[in-house]
Amino acid sequence: MEAQLKMLNGKILLKVQGITAAELFAQIAEAQSVFDAESKCGMCGGTDLKLSHRQPKGFDYFEIECCNQECRARFQFGQLKDEKGALFPKRRDADGNAIGNGGWTIYRGEGRDGSNDHNAQYNAPPARQAPPAQGRPAQAPARQASNPGPPPFAEDRDRW
Ligand SMILES: [Zn+2]
Repeated sequence: MEAQLKMLNGKILLKVQGITAAELFAQIAEAQSVFDAESKCGMCGGTDLKLSHRQPKGFDYFEIECCNQECRARFQFGQLKDEKGALFPKRRDADGNAIGNGGWTIYRGEGRDGSNDHNAQYNAPPARQAPPAQGRPAQAPARQASNPGPPPFAEDRDRW
């Protein structure tokens, strides 16, 4: 079986496959949880969004970026270390607190000294890296709950 999915307000046409209905269901659900995680910017409400991938200092950042040049807010995805290539929408910080504006933050570019902000966030001690999606089972696969410990921004850059 095969399904075609329009994601990110129609900017992405994604094709997923599964031999069984359950497989296809899981593929669609995973795709939606990432590529259709947000339909509008949490800061300005704009619907012109795009995917952004950056690798400052060897760390992978997977984000949805607001194309409103006045805004340029970003929504970040975390990476599951134990499941290579798996991403989840990051709506909570390392302490499990909801990130303001539904997870959207204004990007302070790595071109300036802003990279320190990001590194400080992702180099937090493993003990503080509780699964961000815990307690939000409706929006994240349950497997995250059994996956405590590793920082989400570790070495998972093979498939992406
Ligand atoms: Zn915006």
